[in-house]
Amino acid sequence: MNQTSQKILEFVNQAQSIVITSHKSPDGDSIGSSLALYHILKKWGRNVQIVHPDPAPSFLHWVVGQEQIIDFETKHEQAVAAIQKADLIFCLDYNHPSRVGDQMQPFLVESTANKVMIDHHLHPADFCQAVISESTACSTCELIYNWIKDVNRLDDIDETSGACIYLGIMTDTGSFRFPSVSATTHEIIADLIRRGVKHYLIHEAVYDTNTVDRIKLRGFALSEKLVCLNDIQVAYAFISEKELEKYNYQKGDTEGLVNQILGIQGIKMAVLFVEKDGKVKISFRSKGDYFVNELANAHFEGGGHAYASGGISTESLEKTVEKFVTFVKDFIPKA
Ligand code: 5GP
Ligand code: MN
Repeated sequence: MNQTSQKILEFVNQAQSIVITSHKSPDGDSIGSSLALYHILKKWGRNVQIVHPDPAPSFLHWVVGQEQIIDFETKHEQAVAAIQKADLIFCLDYNHPSRVGDQMQPFLVESTANKVMIDHHLHPADFCQAVISESTACSTCELIYNWIKDVNRLDDIDETSGACIYLGIMTDTGSFRFPSVSATTHEIIADLIRRGVKHYLIHEAVYDTNTVDRIKLRGFALSEKLVCLNDIQVAYAFISEKELEKYNYQKGDTEGLVNQILGIQGIKMAVLFVEKDGKVKISFRSKGDYFVNELANAHFEGGGHAYASGGISTESLEKTVEKFVTFVKDFIPKA
């Protein structure tokens, strides 16, 4: 067993009150890793709660235990109490305290609990007592699985926790297609299926629950709001808050849309701008020799992975798009 795995196990065994946290705007990997760890720690008889900055989108509501997550936005007092009482805090799928958002960050930072980071983003900040940070891992769920394996407790993974791990790996790898997927990833999946995970039900639950409004919003964005800069192999779409309202926007409705744009023949960078609550949330995806994290970091207060990043802008939607078009050329590899 490696030393870090051992140290984390000791933290777990000594803790009276464990809290699992993850980043803002939950996705399959943050929900999957939080709940997988939650189910395992419960099985071990530990006192554990999950505190997330904000609620999960509806396409993740089916996950067993999802209703147990205390979110800082709608259950503020309960969330604060849990963090203040915790003597061990897991920080899953994020590399910096700012990723939990302005509201929750001070409570996380001020907590004197032992903190454990398990994450696969680049450049982990130094705020945890034990760190598993592997940017080559396809997902945080893969790292959770590896830790459970390392502490010799694989047999504790059952259909419920296994489904959570499968969910995070599936969603963070675009259904097992990104370069981050390794032979080991497939070995993990095989093991999960042997442990009872119904992979087809997870695909259905995540991908086949579109509302008509969601399908129409996506259709509208692709047919009316898509711009292709073919000379530099970049495509982007932008959606205003008014347009979201027209299609009765629900959290998660634009999830994955940026990947469809990246699917356009010849395109190597795709960007989606979504205006929400007076800000613009930006999703970047790329492939080949185009890397988006530097662009997100340099101009849009964000970052992430080389091929999948995010950022934010407080300027208007039009200004943000204009700025992007001006700056993107500097981030295209020179021929
Ligand atoms: P998405 O486009 O799915 O919101 O985000 C893609 C990836 O970019 C996430 O997995 C996360 O790693 C990163 N990311 C998204 N938003 C932000 C942000 O505001 N700051 C940073 N540093 N990374 C982000
Ligand atoms: Mn992840």
